[in-house]
Amino acid sequence: MDCLFCKIIEGDLPSTKVLENDKVLVFQNINPEAPVHVLVIPKKHIASMNDIEDEDLLLIGEMHKAAKEAAAKLGIDESGYRLINNCGKDGMQTVFHLHYHLMGGKRLGALTGISPEHA
Ligand code: 5GP
Ligand code: ZN
Repeated sequence: MDCLFCKIIEGDLPSTKVLENDKVLVFQNINPEAPVHVLVIPKKHIASMNDIEDEDLLLIGEMHKAAKEAAAKLGIDESGYRLINNCGKDGMQTVFHLHYHLMGGKRLGALTGISPEHA
């Protein structure tokens, strides 16, 4: 499958791993937008939030657990963080393998991208 993150999982492309188990991989974002910015991905290829099936629900829980553990490992559990999913065109998703952005290490500010008329 021609998927960037599947290639990272397979080791065909390099990555800086933060945490790994048999279901989930957490690795450094190549283009960080915060002092801490890692990506949490399932080892199973799921293209986006829209493609999550009932059989994946435990796996989504595993992603949250890995995110929590990565936050502690990276020292931002006490200071706080965000877990973000971008889905589809309006969500500005660019890699179509489900992932959470785990971001922290500074005060991130209010959520952006919400126009005043929709706030
Ligand atoms: P999206 O825009 O789909 O929510 O997020 C994709 C993320 O993957 C971006 O933040 C981008 O910096 C990151 N990314 C894209 N290509 C690579 C890569 O080859 N290696 C790593 N580590 N991150 C990548
Ligand atoms: Zn994939």
